[in-house]
Amino acid sequence: MPRKRILITGAAGFLGSHLCDRFIKEDYHVIGMDNLITGDLRNIEHLFKLDNFEFYHHDVSNFVHVPGELHYILHFASPASPIDYLKIPIQTLKVGSLGTHNLLGLALAKGARMLIASTSEVYGDPSVNPQPEEYWGNVNPVGPRGVYDEAKRFQEAMTMAYHTYHGLETRIVRIFNTYGPRMRLNDGRVLPAFIGQALRGESLTMFGDGSQTRSFCYVDDLIEGIYRLLFSDYPHPVNIGNPDEITIRQFGEEIIKLTGTDQQMISLPLPTDDPKQRRPDITKAKALLGWEPKVSRSEGLKITYEYFKSLPQDLVEKVEH
Ligand code: NAD
Ligand code: UDP
Repeated sequence: MPRKRILITGAAGFLGSHLCDRFIKEDYHVIGMDNLITGDLRNIEHLFKLDNFEFYHHDVSNFVHVPGELHYILHFASPASPIDYLKIPIQTLKVGSLGTHNLLGLALAKGARMLIASTSEVYGDPSVNPQPEEYWGNVNPVGPRGVYDEAKRFQEAMTMAYHTYHGLETRIVRIFNTYGPRMRLNDGRVLPAFIGQALRGESLTMFGDGSQTRSFCYVDDLIEGIYRLLFSDYPHPVNIGNPDEITIRQFGEEIIKLTGTDQQMISLPLPTDDPKQRRPDITKAKALLGWEPKVSRSEGLKITYEYFKSLPQDLVEKVEH
């Protein structure tokens, strides 16, 4: 039987590259697409020699054409780190809106099932904790993070409209903070920031007093959750994340212990609209997908630290933002 064909946008990024690996492992024909604005071809260079992998260098905010059949589309293209989307706010809004529209149109034309990468940021700075899917969120549309949060909220609304109006098969995953190998050391997210600083012997830059919380999910757990959601029959949003919540100060202390550095944490101003608390309610994922995270933070951090330590020294030293 010919292989099923899947298009993965954002393929050269952190999550997209892990998804490519997973679907190659499952013997799919994988078509990766990326404009490399925040991604890196080194994340997928090991796939280029395979006959069931193709790569298109393309900006999905422009019309997307893929010849041949398509059975599935995973739309993961979008800047994801606050410093990235603050640097390229218009592209961020475009890829969540125009990019999503282009891909939904492609899915409709090909009869493909489409899954979109949404985010816990649709909950903004939440006033309920943990966040269930029914919570509508607390987002400042015109604040600096609005370009990302509103793009993702629009993305969900557009996807739901294609489902209800056109009957397209769609899936929506709301991803909570995920970490692991292939994150960019200079992407500004807290984990690579802290580990990079520890490796360079710099102080760890804690924003605010560090009392804000996050809940960190190891990448392998997330990929498994996405895989199960794609093959479920549930079109409404599903949270995928690890509910093990921690303050950023405690997280910094864990990184200091893990890396054996004698560096201190210094406090810098808290970015505007930085959410004070975040923790997924994963009741739905458990019930619908039989999914829950398996990798503890201490295990996941060890693997991720080994990955960062194995990078060439020039990448560790390079921190242009
Ligand atoms: P990433 O920056 O590593 O990857 C994003 C990829 O998308 C990059 O390779 C980038 O070059 C590509 N891209 C961006 N705009 C594009 C465009 N217009 N056309 C084609 N390619 C484009 O980020 P990531 O952490 O892998 O995030 C992937 C997806 O998951 C994003 O949609 C993000 O919003 C979502 N997400 C991630 C997290 C997380 O914790 N990593 C949390 C919530 C949601
Ligand atoms: N953060 C920090 N120091 C850094 C980078 C981030 O204290 O060098 C904080 C940030 O203010 C936020 C948390 O860590 O409260 C997570 O930030 P990240 O950018 O990783 O993700 P997001 O805010 O999107 O959850």
